[in-house]
Amino acid sequence: MRAKPMAAPRTELPPTAGLPLRWSDFAPGAAAPLAPQLARLLELDDGAATLTCSGTAALVLALSALGRDSARRDVIVPAYTCPLVAIAVAHCGLNLRLCDTRPGHFEMDPDALAALCGPDTLAIVPAHLGGRLADLGAPVRLARAVGARVIEDAAQALGARHADGTPAGAAGDLGILSLAAGKGLSIFEGGALIAHDPALRARIAELAPQVLPRSLRWEARRCIELIGYALLYGPRGLRWVYGAPLRRALRRGDEVAAAQDEFSLRIPLHRVGGWRRAIGARAAPRLPAFLDAARQRALARSAQLRGIEGVQVLGDRRGERGTWPTLTLLFADPAARDAALARLWGAGLGVSWPFVRALPDYAYLRGTVASAPMPNAADFAARVLAVGNSEWLDDAAFARIAQVLQESCRQPRG
Ligand SMILES: *Cc1c(COP(=O)(O)O)cnc(C)c1O
Repeated sequence: MRAKPMAAPRTELPPTAGLPLRWSDFAPGAAAPLAPQLARLLELDDGAATLTCSGTAALVLALSALGRDSARRDVIVPAYTCPLVAIAVAHCGLNLRLCDTRPGHFEMDPDALAALCGPDTLAIVPAHLGGRLADLGAPVRLARAVGARVIEDAAQALGARHADGTPAGAAGDLGILSLAAGKGLSIFEGGALIAHDPALRARIAELAPQVLPRSLRWEARRCIELIGYALLYGPRGLRWVYGAPLRRALRRGDEVAAAQDEFSLRIPLHRVGGWRRAIGARAAPRLPAFLDAARQRALARSAQLRGIEGVQVLGDRRGERGTWPTLTLLFADPAARDAALARLWGAGLGVSWPFVRALPDYAYLRGTVASAPMPNAADFAARVLAVGNSEWLDDAAFARIAQVLQESCRQPRG
């Protein structure tokens, strides 16, 4: 799908709703420690969370902790998820086992998952995407049956709740959170590993200094990037740091780069410094109210899109309370999705294509992910589209998006 050349818009809305930083977050002075604050957001005791330099690093730490005490080597991940998940498994020298999704969803198909589970299964890594929750029922049950662990990937769902009330990230044996730019609360790059079991916590505490050593070079770079993020995260600044590279990639027809799905195979692993931790800690108390406001916007706008035939807005199942960094849309017809993306992606309205491929279909991951048909994951990738739910998306801009979605579904196609 090659988009038409497009003029640069005057403003650029973010593709996801990230919590904007304030200058007061940078003020000197003491701040409550960040990791215990994250643990309390998940209604856990203060010792449950370990701060890491990214969600990917949290997964590396989780897999290292589990792998240390086990001869099991298989890690099962959904075929449609963040490529960093596959890169982390490869980094740890473990066997990546892909589970196709169930039709029309990003969730692992329970039958496919059952067929993959066995005595070599170390961990299953179900992922919540775009704030929508994956059902953990089958992963937890199957993991228990074979003696494996569940690592809940809540990188895109900090603040969400499962139907039984358990916060996302706290429902598995281990949970990973991301504090990356655009993923809600951000210290530009950061994350956390959640653990319940005391033995696992001890293992993590022992491994963390080895897996995440101090690095002045990385931390200095992240501090500068965090200042840039605070300065530029808004409709004007994002034109330069997000919109311009996006439109260049679209002009080249490079969807993987446009979606920022191309990650380095070398994972930065280092300790997060005190300055960035304090900034995250000062911003964190604003997160619940921020998520509530995003939810109100999203529910109203989901209702507005409900009338468009051929587009489904993914929502919560009974009892669930997801978060709303985006509205995640699933088109009935991939050609209609492509038509909508061709007009909206790169138009400055915060519309994007979340992950553009099933994991085996990324050319750059060929040495990392074994080739295998994952038809449902590929089909989901071909029909999904995300509308950023930032506070800057006003009613007029949203009406324009809705109009294009409607026209894309109506267009006759041969
Ligand atoms: C972003 C993301 C990760 C990795 O988190 P980083 O903080 O970017 O390393 C893992 N899983 C999912 C589903 C993600 O979206």
